[in-house]
Amino acid sequence: MKWETVIGLETHVELATQNKLFCTCSAAFGAAPNQNCCALCLGVPGVRPVLNEKAVELAVRGALALGCRVETVSAFDRKHYSSPDLPRGYQITQFYRPLARDGTVRFAPEDGRECVVRIAQLHLEDDAGRQFHDRESGCTRIDFNRSGVPLIEIVTQPDFSTGDEVVAYLEQLKSILTYLGVSDCKLQEGSLRCDVNLSVRPVGSTQLGTRTEMKNLGSFRAIRKAVAFERGRQIRLLESGAQVVQETRRWDEDAEQSLPMRTKEDARDYRYCPEPDLPELVLDEAWVERLRREQPELAAQKQVRYAAQMGLSPYEAETLTQTRELAEYFEQTVACGAPPKQAAAWIMGQVLRQLSQRGLTAGQITLPPVGLARIIAMVEQGRVNRNTAVEVFDAVFEGGDPEQYVADHALEQVSDADAVCAAVEQVLQQHPQAVRELREGKEKAFGFLMGQAMRALG
Ligand code: ADP
Ligand code: MG
Ligand code: ZN
Repeated sequence: MKWETVIGLETHVELATQNKLFCTCSAAFGAAPNQNCCALCLGVPGVRPVLNEKAVELAVRGALALGCRVETVSAFDRKHYSSPDLPRGYQITQFYRPLARDGTVRFAPEDGRECVVRIAQLHLEDDAGRQFHDRESGCTRIDFNRSGVPLIEIVTQPDFSTGDEVVAYLEQLKSILTYLGVSDCKLQEGSLRCDVNLSVRPVGSTQLGTRTEMKNLGSFRAIRKAVAFERGRQIRLLESGAQVVQETRRWDEDAEQSLPMRTKEDARDYRYCPEPDLPELVLDEAWVERLRREQPELAAQKQVRYAAQMGLSPYEAETLTQTRELAEYFEQTVACGAPPKQAAAWIMGQVLRQLSQRGLTAGQITLPPVGLARIIAMVEQGRVNRNTAVEVFDAVFEGGDPEQYVADHALEQVSDADAVCAAVEQVLQQHPQAVRELREGKEKAFGFLMGQAMRALG
């Protein structure tokens, strides 16, 4: 039998707020364990949550960019489960009335197809603490810094059929949310986490099979492997006459297999109930409209514009829009007068080379766009040749004025035909032997004469 894979994603994204969702503790990543906690973060009874407006704003910006309908009235609910990293005993989420519904995301997997997936809903919730095993003491420890960090959960319809599609969607989601400043979406720091719901069914069937949910997918590579593994496991089960058990499975990165973690809870098991400590979340429609108008140009729109208005290739447009910071650097360089094609070539070649050598990101470029534009202009005007321009670029990349550098190091090219002719005449007269050899066809003599002429001209 031929099988097809059906995948739906639940993606958790940490919002880039300074504070947590319901208290004023810092939401920053990387602090020493348990430094950013208060009584609310620790679940002390009697402490009440107060909603962070900035988190709502970022969630709404994200929802709008994903084409969702933003609900004017939504509400918070308690989702109960027992875990040492959740001392309150419940997570505050939006279950009955989520913030937004019915979006779409367009993306292109590597094979170049255009894909669309439907977003079922997007809602706000708070994160739990983080447990980790301390090898030294043999204990499991808990860091509550993450407890209460704002998240949005983005749930898709079961619209994916391959690991490549899943990864391409996540890359698109990451691009959109980082352009908006909604999240930094770092898989390795856990600010983007994705649960993969997967089932298989005979090709042609319209009924969904029984699915499993996989967690702990820490990289795009792991996601691809996990999809392939789980698809194979389910097909083998079904072909041997067994059933797929609906359960939550954990991806084991080292063993490259998924292992059962717990049987899947029903909504019933979570004992959802409205959160009595928070009022309904009522949004001002004019405010939502303002956020809609303020939406920045996203990578996909920039790519179209770069191709149409500036004549860039799809590859150039895609590379330059990798991050919003790089795209802005490119646009500012062009605004300073650099021809787009030249600016693109310099940024994709020299700027990215410098960044990767120094381990920097595009947001950390110190050479101002006007500096790069000046270097490009010098080459265009024939004042320096390309090699010299790269030398100047490297010298001023961390700071300095390209014009000044060229002046200080006397790098400017002299384009004076009379001076060059006079020097060449002199060299030819001084080296009759080499001239004779050149006339006899000895190419090596040419290099020698060239060297003499260059030395004479300094
Ligand atoms: P829950 O919240 O209990 O995990 P949902 O119905 O909200 O369940 O679905 C969660 C995710 O699982 C969604 O992304 C959905 O598209 C996906 N999904 C649901 N049923 C299937 C299935 N049979 N096969 C693959 N994915 C599924
Ligand atoms: Mg789920
Ligand atoms: Zn707190």
